[in-house]
Amino acid sequence: MSTQTAAPTGPSELQAYERVQLYIDGEWTDGSGSRCEDIINPATAEALGTVPLAEDVDLDRALTAADRGFRLWRGLSVDERTSILHRAADLIRQRAGAIGTTMTLEEGKPLPEARGEVVRVAKLLDWDTEEARRNYGRIIPMDAGTELTVTHEPIGPVAAFTPWNFPAGSPMRKIAAALSAGCSIVIKASEETPGTACALVRCFEDAGVPAGVLNLVFGVPAEVSERLIASPVTRLVASTGSIPVGKQLAGLAARVMKPTLMELGGHAPVIVCEDADPEQAAVRTAASKFVNAGQVCTAPSRIIVHERLHDRFVEALVRAAESVKVGDGLEGGVRMGPLANDRRRSAVEQLVSDAVDRGATVACGGKRLDREGWFYAPTVLTGVPRDARVMHEEPFGPIAPVVTFTELSDALELANSLPFGLAAYGFTESAATAAELKNGLEAGILSINHCGGSVPEAPSGGVKESGHGKEGGSEGLEAYLVTKRISHRLR
Ligand code: NAD
Repeated sequence: MSTQTAAPTGPSELQAYERVQLYIDGEWTDGSGSRCEDIINPATAEALGTVPLAEDVDLDRALTAADRGFRLWRGLSVDERTSILHRAADLIRQRAGAIGTTMTLEEGKPLPEARGEVVRVAKLLDWDTEEARRNYGRIIPMDAGTELTVTHEPIGPVAAFTPWNFPAGSPMRKIAAALSAGCSIVIKASEETPGTACALVRCFEDAGVPAGVLNLVFGVPAEVSERLIASPVTRLVASTGSIPVGKQLAGLAARVMKPTLMELGGHAPVIVCEDADPEQAAVRTAASKFVNAGQVCTAPSRIIVHERLHDRFVEALVRAAESVKVGDGLEGGVRMGPLANDRRRSAVEQLVSDAVDRGATVACGGKRLDREGWFYAPTVLTGVPRDARVMHEEPFGPIAPVVTFTELSDALELANSLPFGLAAYGFTESAATAAELKNGLEAGILSINHCGGSVPEAPSGGVKESGHGKEGGSEGLEAYLVTKRISHRLR
């Protein structure tokens, strides 16, 4: 089977964009209704195509398929599952160029970043697949004649929901863990970036994943989540997205006593201590801050700098921000694309104008770019009052607000003052100060002297309202497994 592509519909789209459909029970379909939405290229504001929206009857078909698919998939040997999933990873690598182009067209991130994300998800799939081979149970010594064992079984069909900022990364976290653990899945990927999800699913289809094991739907988000979560078929709700949506989905799951895996937002503090190298801290913070135009749940977003380093740090941060080439992600040399949608750009504008109204200074950026698409300049704000909205609300955009501190205890208190706890960063040359940061920062992901990204080998996930459960690492399979105690009296 070959990758399906549709002719681009926008006049400026010279690259092929993926054909977008629902994938239910091993078949591509436009669904049973007529509702659909435009898919917009954020760099041009032109339509790339349309995404069909599932009706209840389509969702019910997906659920029935996932129920059947689960029994079939868990019944295969680990070797059979593993070889199919490795084949899917190989296909993803082979198609990384085309999938990356689709991602840039629909999400806006620069092409090298998009292709890099695709290659990383293939590695993640390989890693999860191998890790699942080590899903060992244990034998507990008992009286002679009684055998007591503990086993970990796949939890069952998974209902998964993923957003638009990592069109390959977020869906693959769920698909790789579910299928490696022996579960089936119905995933609602983002309606704003559906092409990448379709392209990934085609790799699984072409690798030989049986019908019903992996089902991809799009729809009206609230309708889809209500239906999939309420269904007795699904046994786990796994979601990446905003905290308000996470709470809504967790509430639906609680009504039917279903476990949840929640990877939600944050508002990552960066503490630059008095003994840090301010230029190095600024360059490393900027390198992470403007990736994906700041639309990353772990992006550094509250920069808390010792007052003695402030001026040198800001000077280096502004230099780094101004050196970021912004443009259409398909153009060579572009390091930051547009924001992914118009809502995001308006939200960013409002956060900047609120901060300025309260007395902050725009050190650079602070405005839209004068061109088509949803571009906003890399922005550094200084003298940001602590009551500014940008200090409390996840900016999810290319804004770097800087504030100062004198005592580390004050910096830690500010860092921990929000109900979020996803990522946090610290810069220091002192082992003792690093230890204080490691102990004191309330976060699920902490990096010292750099802004580290996620890797397949290690768990990612938040504390407090940023979510619960882990994705990645050995811990990443836990949510997809249930533990069974089996006692067997032999005579
Ligand atoms: P949003 O909160 O409306 O939507 C976030 C995602 O959840 C979207 O993909 C949306 O389709 C989905 N969604 C919304 N309602 C849903 C429902 N009832 N059931 C299932 N899915 C639902 O907002 P948005 O404008 O898309 O993004 C804004 C905020 O979301 C950002 O500021 C950021 O805080 C957060 N966000 C976080 C992540 C993350 O990786 N944790 C990713 C994207 C967005």
